[in-house]
Amino acid sequence: MRHPILVSACLLGLQTRYDGQAKPKEKVLRYLATNGLIPVPVCPEQLAGQPTPRPATRFACGNGEMVLDGTGSVVSVTGSNMNDIFIRGANETLKIARLCGCTQALLKERSPSCGVHQIHLGDCIIEGQGVACALLRREGLQIYSEEDL
Ligand code: SF4
Repeated sequence: MRHPILVSACLLGLQTRYDGQAKPKEKVLRYLATNGLIPVPVCPEQLAGQPTPRPATRFACGNGEMVLDGTGSVVSVTGSNMNDIFIRGANETLKIARLCGCTQALLKERSPSCGVHQIHLGDCIIEGQGVACALLRREGLQIYSEEDL
């Protein structure tokens, strides 16, 4: 039986990134095919209602967990606080996971929404999760990134 898996849409070749580009990874497609998984593409930032292209976004304080708890912040390069938008996108992504019966997710490393092990804090790369990743993990999904394959 084939199982559904939530996958960052940009990893599947969909042009969802802030710059209007995709980040297709051959090894992701190979992994899905080899393991008989049905990809469910999601882009938390688009699901939040943001346009594409859109301003790049980074953490100004904390990480995805802390944004969910109200103690962190994620901001756009134009200086707007994006916490509410990112939380909305994370919640919409969780709804899709539940609708499709996904118990695992393969997400794009270092994104402020999807990052699994690392994120950008200002100009630095630090250990931490994106906002959508943090919520999905809290809800019990097994999460890994394209760099774990
Ligand atoms: S939010 Fe996630 S799926 Fe959307 S473009 Fe960024 S990394 Fe890709």
